[in-house]
Amino acid sequence: MSKIIVEYAKCVECGACTAVCNTNALQLDASSWSLVYDKRKCTGCKLCIKACPLRAIRASAKLSSAAT
Ligand code: SF4
Ligand code: SF4
Repeated sequence: MSKIIVEYAKCVECGACTAVCNTNALQLDASSWSLVYDKRKCTGCKLCIKACPLRAIRASAKLSSAAT
């Protein structure tokens, strides 16, 4: 299950979230220049949520209830 939810409609592919993601769960695809999220690599650290200037990323319901 995804730990974060990306609202792609808000995303401007700035790369702020990919820069802070330690596991490369978020990456900018070079060919399509779009944000790619791999939930298998995601640890749920939430650094990307804090990093996104447009608040395009939020915690999934599961992560919100599990972690504080
Ligand atoms: S929650 Fe952490 S590991 Fe998961 S995509 Fe965001 S920065 Fe990467
Ligand atoms: S930080 Fe936000 S706007 Fe920038 S690439 Fe990530 S999700 Fe998109």
